Amino acid sequence: KTVRKPLIAGNWKMNLNHLEAIALVQKIAFSLKEEHYAAVDATVLPPFVDIRSVQTLVDGDRLLLTYGAQDLSPHDSGAYTGDVSGPMLAKLGCTFVVVGHSERRQHHHEDDQLVNAKVRAAFRNGLTPIVCTGESLEIREQLGHLEHCELQIDAALEGVSAEQAASVVIAYEPVWAIGTGRVATPEDAQQVCAAIRRRIAGRFSAEVADAVRILYGGSVKAANAGELLAAPDVDGALVGGASLDGAEFATICLAA
Ligand code: PEP
Repeated sequence: KTVRKPLIAGNWKMNLNHLEAIALVQKIAFSLKEEHYAAVDATVLPPFVDIRSVQTLVDGDRLLLTYGAQDLSPHDSGAYTGDVSGPMLAKLGCTFVVVGHSERRQHHHEDDQLVNAKVRAAFRNGLTPIVCTGESLEIREQLGHLEHCELQIDAALEGVSAEQAASVVIAYEPVWAIGTGRVATPEDAQQVCAAIRRRIAGRFSAEVADAVRILYGGSVKAANAGELLAAPDVDGALVGGASLDGAEFATICLAA
Protein backbone atom coordinates (compact mmCIF):
# COMPACT_ATOMS: atom_id res chain seq x y z
CA LYS A 1 0.00 0.00 0.00
CA THR A 2 2.91 2.34 0.69
CA VAL A 3 3.62 2.52 -3.05
CA ARG A 4 0.02 3.33 -3.94
CA LYS A 5 -0.97 6.96 -3.49
CA PRO A 6 -4.53 7.21 -2.16
CA LEU A 7 -7.15 8.68 -4.48
CA ILE A 8 -10.33 10.40 -3.33
CA ALA A 9 -12.79 10.93 -6.18
CA GLY A 10 -15.95 13.01 -5.85
CA ASN A 11 -18.80 11.73 -8.02
CA TRP A 12 -21.22 14.64 -8.19
CA LYS A 13 -23.74 12.59 -10.19
CA MET A 14 -26.47 14.79 -11.78
CA ASN A 15 -26.01 17.66 -9.32
CA LEU A 16 -24.79 21.28 -9.62
CA ASN A 17 -24.84 23.55 -12.68
CA HIS A 18 -21.63 25.13 -13.96
CA LEU A 19 -21.86 28.13 -11.63
CA GLU A 20 -22.45 25.92 -8.60
CA ALA A 21 -19.54 23.77 -9.80
CA ILE A 22 -17.20 26.77 -9.61
CA ALA A 23 -18.36 27.56 -6.07
CA LEU A 24 -17.76 23.97 -4.93
CA VAL A 25 -14.27 23.76 -6.47
CA GLN A 26 -13.40 27.06 -4.78
CA LYS A 27 -14.50 25.63 -1.42
CA ILE A 28 -12.42 22.49 -1.95
CA ALA A 29 -9.41 24.62 -2.93
CA PHE A 30 -9.84 26.67 0.25
CA SER A 31 -9.48 23.55 2.45
CA LEU A 32 -7.08 21.47 0.38
CA LYS A 33 -3.71 23.18 0.07
CA GLU A 34 -0.78 22.37 -2.17
CA GLU A 35 1.11 20.52 0.59
CA HIS A 36 -1.76 18.06 1.08
CA TYR A 37 -1.37 16.72 -2.44
CA ALA A 38 1.91 15.06 -1.54
CA ALA A 39 -0.11 12.47 0.39
CA VAL A 40 -3.34 12.18 -1.61
CA ASP A 41 -4.71 12.61 -5.12
CA ALA A 42 -8.04 14.40 -5.15
CA THR A 43 -10.34 14.54 -8.16
CA VAL A 44 -13.85 15.75 -8.92
CA LEU A 45 -16.21 14.19 -11.44
CA PRO A 46 -18.79 16.83 -12.41
CA PRO A 47 -21.57 16.58 -15.01
CA PHE A 48 -20.30 17.09 -18.58
CA VAL A 49 -21.67 20.65 -18.85
CA ASP A 50 -19.64 21.77 -15.81
CA ILE A 51 -16.26 20.46 -16.96
CA ARG A 52 -15.19 23.49 -19.00
CA SER A 53 -15.82 25.79 -16.01
CA VAL A 54 -13.90 23.49 -13.69
CA GLN A 55 -11.02 23.35 -16.19
CA THR A 56 -10.83 27.16 -16.36
CA LEU A 57 -10.71 27.46 -12.57
CA VAL A 58 -8.19 24.63 -12.07
CA ASP A 59 -5.89 26.01 -14.79
CA GLY A 60 -6.29 29.66 -13.77
CA ASP A 61 -5.56 29.04 -10.10
CA ARG A 62 -3.01 26.28 -10.82
CA LEU A 63 -4.87 23.90 -8.54
CA LEU A 64 -3.49 20.41 -8.04
CA LEU A 65 -7.06 19.10 -7.96
CA THR A 66 -7.75 16.99 -11.04
CA TYR A 67 -11.13 16.32 -12.65
CA GLY A 68 -12.87 13.92 -14.94
CA ALA A 69 -16.21 12.78 -16.29
CA GLN A 70 -18.86 10.32 -15.15
CA ASP A 71 -19.20 8.47 -18.46
CA LEU A 72 -18.00 8.46 -22.07
CA SER A 73 -19.05 6.99 -25.39
CA PRO A 74 -17.31 3.83 -26.60
CA HIS A 75 -16.95 5.65 -29.95
CA ASP A 76 -14.58 8.52 -30.68
CA SER A 77 -16.93 10.48 -32.97
CA GLY A 78 -19.91 10.04 -35.27
CA ALA A 79 -23.68 9.77 -35.37
CA TYR A 80 -24.30 9.12 -31.66
CA THR A 81 -26.74 11.85 -30.66
CA GLY A 82 -26.38 12.99 -27.09
CA ASP A 83 -23.14 11.13 -26.36
CA VAL A 84 -19.78 12.61 -25.35
CA SER A 85 -16.52 11.12 -26.61
CA GLY A 86 -13.12 10.38 -25.15
CA PRO A 87 -11.31 12.87 -27.43
CA MET A 88 -13.68 15.62 -26.21
CA LEU A 89 -12.95 14.81 -22.57
CA ALA A 90 -9.21 14.58 -23.19
CA LYS A 91 -9.28 18.00 -24.87
CA LEU A 92 -10.91 19.41 -21.71
CA GLY A 93 -7.98 18.17 -19.63
CA CYS A 94 -9.86 15.35 -17.92
CA THR A 95 -7.67 12.88 -16.05
CA PHE A 96 -10.30 10.29 -15.11
CA VAL A 97 -13.57 8.92 -16.44
CA VAL A 98 -15.98 6.73 -14.51
CA VAL A 99 -17.01 3.59 -16.37
CA GLY A 100 -19.69 1.10 -15.39
CA HIS A 101 -21.20 2.90 -12.42
CA SER A 102 -24.08 0.82 -11.04
CA GLU A 103 -26.51 3.66 -11.77
CA ARG A 104 -25.60 3.46 -15.46
CA ARG A 105 -25.71 -0.34 -15.44
CA GLN A 106 -29.20 -0.08 -13.92
CA HIS A 107 -30.80 2.94 -15.60
CA HIS A 108 -29.03 2.73 -18.97
CA HIS A 109 -28.78 -1.07 -19.16
CA GLU A 110 -24.99 -0.98 -19.60
CA ASP A 111 -23.66 -4.52 -19.77
CA ASP A 112 -20.13 -5.87 -19.27
CA GLN A 113 -19.40 -5.73 -23.00
CA LEU A 114 -20.27 -2.03 -23.23
CA VAL A 115 -18.30 -1.31 -20.05
CA ASN A 116 -15.28 -2.99 -21.65
CA ALA A 117 -15.69 -0.94 -24.86
CA LYS A 118 -15.77 2.22 -22.74
CA VAL A 119 -12.66 1.18 -20.80
CA ARG A 120 -10.83 0.72 -24.10
CA ALA A 121 -12.14 4.07 -25.38
CA ALA A 122 -10.78 5.74 -22.23
CA PHE A 123 -7.31 4.22 -22.67
CA ARG A 124 -7.29 4.99 -26.39
CA ASN A 125 -7.71 8.66 -25.47
CA GLY A 126 -5.24 8.90 -22.61
CA LEU A 127 -7.92 8.92 -19.91
CA THR A 128 -7.71 6.78 -16.76
CA PRO A 129 -10.89 4.76 -16.30
CA ILE A 130 -12.38 4.40 -12.83
CA VAL A 131 -14.05 1.04 -13.34
CA CYS A 132 -16.93 0.39 -10.97
CA THR A 133 -18.00 -3.00 -9.72
CA GLY A 134 -20.34 -4.08 -6.96
CA GLU A 135 -23.02 -6.55 -5.99
CA SER A 136 -26.71 -6.13 -5.22
CA LEU A 137 -28.08 -7.06 -1.82
CA GLU A 138 -29.53 -10.25 -3.32
CA ILE A 139 -26.10 -11.41 -4.54
CA ARG A 140 -24.51 -10.46 -1.20
CA GLU A 141 -27.07 -12.49 0.73
CA GLN A 142 -26.29 -15.53 -1.42
CA LEU A 143 -22.56 -14.92 -0.72
CA GLY A 144 -21.84 -14.56 -4.44
CA HIS A 145 -20.29 -11.11 -4.11
CA LEU A 146 -16.63 -12.01 -4.59
CA GLU A 147 -17.22 -13.98 -7.77
CA HIS A 148 -19.64 -11.34 -9.07
CA CYS A 149 -17.06 -8.56 -8.70
CA GLU A 150 -14.21 -10.70 -10.06
CA LEU A 151 -16.22 -11.51 -13.19
CA GLN A 152 -17.22 -7.87 -13.71
CA ILE A 153 -13.56 -6.82 -13.49
CA ASP A 154 -12.45 -9.67 -15.79
CA ALA A 155 -14.96 -8.48 -18.40
CA ALA A 156 -14.10 -4.80 -18.00
CA LEU A 157 -10.37 -5.45 -18.55
CA GLU A 158 -10.75 -7.75 -21.54
CA GLY A 159 -8.19 -6.82 -24.22
CA VAL A 160 -6.41 -4.34 -21.94
CA SER A 161 -2.59 -4.48 -21.85
CA ALA A 162 -0.64 -5.06 -18.63
CA GLU A 163 0.70 -1.52 -18.82
CA GLN A 164 -2.82 -0.11 -19.12
CA ALA A 165 -4.11 -2.41 -16.38
CA ALA A 166 -1.45 -1.11 -13.98
CA SER A 167 -2.83 2.41 -14.32
CA VAL A 168 -6.51 1.54 -13.98
CA VAL A 169 -8.54 2.60 -10.96
CA ILE A 170 -11.16 0.18 -9.69
CA ALA A 171 -14.02 1.21 -7.43
CA TYR A 172 -15.73 -1.44 -5.35
CA GLU A 173 -19.19 -0.07 -4.74
CA PRO A 174 -21.71 -2.47 -3.22
CA VAL A 175 -25.05 -1.41 -4.71
CA TRP A 176 -26.75 -1.73 -1.31
CA ALA A 177 -24.38 0.89 0.12
CA ILE A 178 -24.72 3.57 -2.58
CA GLY A 179 -26.73 6.56 -1.44
CA THR A 180 -28.36 4.50 1.31
CA GLY A 181 -26.35 5.62 4.33
CA ARG A 182 -25.62 1.92 4.85
CA VAL A 183 -21.83 1.74 4.64
CA ALA A 184 -19.87 -1.50 4.25
CA THR A 185 -17.69 -2.42 7.22
CA PRO A 186 -13.93 -1.97 6.72
CA GLU A 187 -13.73 -5.79 6.82
CA ASP A 188 -16.29 -6.12 4.00
CA ALA A 189 -14.47 -3.53 1.90
CA GLN A 190 -11.09 -5.14 2.58
CA GLN A 191 -12.34 -8.63 1.69
CA VAL A 192 -13.64 -7.62 -1.73
CA CYS A 193 -10.80 -5.22 -2.59
CA ALA A 194 -8.25 -7.93 -1.71
CA ALA A 195 -10.12 -10.48 -3.85
CA ILE A 196 -10.12 -8.08 -6.81
CA ARG A 197 -6.38 -7.48 -6.37
CA ARG A 198 -5.69 -11.24 -6.27
CA ARG A 199 -7.72 -11.66 -9.43
CA ILE A 200 -5.68 -8.97 -11.20
CA ALA A 201 -2.46 -10.62 -10.02
CA GLY A 202 -3.62 -13.90 -11.58
CA ARG A 203 -4.76 -12.25 -14.81
CA PHE A 204 -1.76 -9.95 -15.26
CA SER A 205 1.03 -10.09 -12.66
CA ALA A 206 1.82 -9.31 -9.04
CA GLU A 207 3.44 -6.03 -10.15
CA VAL A 208 0.30 -4.92 -11.97
CA ALA A 209 -1.87 -5.89 -8.98
CA ASP A 210 0.42 -3.93 -6.64
CA ALA A 211 0.10 -0.82 -8.78
CA VAL A 212 -3.68 -0.80 -9.27
CA ARG A 213 -5.61 1.54 -7.00
CA ILE A 214 -8.79 0.01 -5.65
CA LEU A 215 -11.28 2.42 -4.08
CA TYR A 216 -14.25 1.76 -1.87
CA GLY A 217 -17.51 3.59 -2.58
CA GLY A 218 -20.88 3.63 -0.87
CA SER A 219 -22.00 6.14 1.78
CA VAL A 220 -18.45 7.32 2.55
CA LYS A 221 -18.49 10.39 4.80
CA ALA A 222 -15.92 12.30 6.83
CA ALA A 223 -17.05 10.32 9.89
CA ASN A 224 -16.34 6.84 8.44
CA ALA A 225 -13.58 7.52 5.88
CA GLY A 226 -10.64 7.00 8.24
CA GLU A 227 -11.43 3.42 9.19
CA LEU A 228 -12.31 2.38 5.61
CA LEU A 229 -9.12 3.91 4.21
CA ALA A 230 -7.02 2.15 6.85
CA ALA A 231 -7.84 -1.24 5.29
CA PRO A 232 -4.68 -2.49 3.53
CA ASP A 233 -6.25 -3.06 0.11
CA VAL A 234 -8.46 0.05 0.11
CA ASP A 235 -6.53 2.76 -1.72
CA GLY A 236 -9.07 5.54 -1.59
CA ALA A 237 -12.74 6.31 -1.96
CA LEU A 238 -15.34 7.13 -4.58
CA VAL A 239 -17.61 9.56 -2.78
CA GLY A 240 -21.10 10.48 -3.97
CA GLY A 241 -23.37 12.52 -1.70
CA ALA A 242 -20.62 13.73 0.65
CA SER A 243 -18.58 15.11 -2.27
CA LEU A 244 -21.16 17.90 -2.77
CA ASP A 245 -19.97 19.59 0.43
CA GLY A 246 -16.53 21.14 -0.09
CA ALA A 247 -15.42 21.05 3.54
CA GLU A 248 -16.60 17.46 4.00
CA PHE A 249 -14.93 16.31 0.79
CA ALA A 250 -11.66 17.97 1.83
CA THR A 251 -11.90 16.30 5.25
CA ILE A 252 -12.25 12.90 3.55
CA CYS A 253 -9.16 13.70 1.42
CA LEU A 254 -7.21 14.61 4.56
CA ALA A 255 -8.24 11.30 6.18
CA ALA A 256 -6.47 9.39 3.39
C1 PEP B 1 -21.37 6.72 -5.82
O1 PEP B 1 -22.36 6.96 -6.46
O2 PEP B 1 -20.31 6.49 -6.42
C2 PEP B 1 -21.44 6.71 -4.34
C3 PEP B 1 -20.54 6.07 -3.67
O3 PEP B 1 -22.50 7.39 -3.75
P1 PEP B 1 -22.72 7.71 -2.18
O4 PEP B 1 -21.40 8.13 -1.62
O5 PEP B 1 -23.73 8.83 -2.16
O6 PEP B 1 -23.22 6.45 -1.55
